[in-house]
Amino acid sequence: MATLGPASAAPELMRQLIDAGVDVFRLNFSHGTREEHARHFETIRKLEKELARPVGILQDLQGPKIRIGRLADGPVHLAPDETVTFSLQGEGRGKDDIPLPHKEIFEAISPGDRILIDDGRLRLEASECNDESLRARVIYGGELSDNKGVNLPDTVLPLSPLTDKDKSDLAYGLELGIDWVALSFVQRPSDVLEAREIIGGRAGIMTKIEKPAALAGIHDIVKLSDAVMVARGDLGVEVPPEDVPGHQKELVRVCRLSGKPVVIATQMLDSMMHAPAPTRAEASDVATAIYDGADAVMLSGETAVGDYPLEAVTFMDRIIRRTENHSDYRSIITALEPTLEPSVQHAVSAAAADVAATIGATAIVAFTSSGATALRIARQRPSVPILVVTTDARIVHRVALLWGAHGALSPQIESFREMVDIATARAIEEGFAKKGDRLVIVAGVPFGVAGSTNNLRVVEV
Ligand code: PGA
Ligand code: MN
Repeated sequence: MATLGPASAAPELMRQLIDAGVDVFRLNFSHGTREEHARHFETIRKLEKELARPVGILQDLQGPKIRIGRLADGPVHLAPDETVTFSLQGEGRGKDDIPLPHKEIFEAISPGDRILIDDGRLRLEASECNDESLRARVIYGGELSDNKGVNLPDTVLPLSPLTDKDKSDLAYGLELGIDWVALSFVQRPSDVLEAREIIGGRAGIMTKIEKPAALAGIHDIVKLSDAVMVARGDLGVEVPPEDVPGHQKELVRVCRLSGKPVVIATQMLDSMMHAPAPTRAEASDVATAIYDGADAVMLSGETAVGDYPLEAVTFMDRIIRRTENHSDYRSIITALEPTLEPSVQHAVSAAAADVAATIGATAIVAFTSSGATALRIARQRPSVPILVVTTDARIVHRVALLWGAHGALSPQIESFREMVDIATARAIEEGFAKKGDRLVIVAGVPFGVAGSTNNLRVVEV
């Protein structure tokens, strides 16, 4: 997954990025103009037609990112141990007038809560507060300038994950036809429900886990989401950095158990912002995400504003392939295999992965109307690709995010004959099989009824 930005806006470069391995592009609505995002959207849709390969488009909403206001008298220097004042109506006339234009904070914060500013560079602790002002003791000081981001890891804020800007961006994105929406700074399961009320089924919902409060309710949050992003940038400010790797492992496991795609994001190849090759530590970080069982790994600034966007994607793709082909990969992945739920759908999907490996099939072809069968098969991490055949063009795009999955469109099938014909034809067209190869086909009978996965068939092309 790659974030688009000024460094990757040229259509020719976007084509090269897709060729180099990008399956999903992220449009980051914290930056850029709507016109730029719309232009990128159109370019992607045009390229995927030319390249005959579905590419997913994720709209990442800014969410309730808290910021210091404008400092009228310029930057202030905060020294350790001194006490300063933030205020709702502050104008930035010194240390006792730091503007914090977010009413909700004053209502929710308690003495002892941490206040982290500028990616955690400045650290304070709340001491006294009322409805519109807040005294805080400086722990790590430094220069404070305009509009710096604020993280409050200890405070659950009564904020909707969708600000007014998000709501209007979302309406715009849905109108364009984005495939996935990412929700930033989700704190509670109800935040996801609130977004779903607006989005309906028009796009998949990806919840970004970047608040400790979200970790506390993670099982419900995952259940209510269609996908999850381990947003290590903000998460690593709100929890100690040494806790991030453990959370990454837990989150990937929870998602894999419930069959929800999970993305590992932020600083994956950070040094490639300014260098044509990654550090050893970065190569290792990408590989770790793959061994953990992530569906996708994401590039942020590396492709949006970096000096080497194409090299970053190329390196990431190489690391992914090397890791998946490493002799220990299979045993690590199967050691984390989710236990089966006692349902026909799960049993058939798991069996498909086993059968494909045993008979040396070249692909699993999954007929699905909602995409659920594809999720169940992908969760097994089969040894062959999953060709997801559906009548719904939205699902074709959405599964671009899913581990090992490739979407293809088909008319509604009515019979086993058609099922076999279409599976075979699509597998050949998409390069997953040639004459003499075997395919494992999974479908639900009666055809076209969601959630009826009950049929497994082996065919020879
Ligand atoms: P962002 O989200 O890049 O939108 O902040 C990812 C993260 O926080 O890791
Ligand atoms: Mn973030």
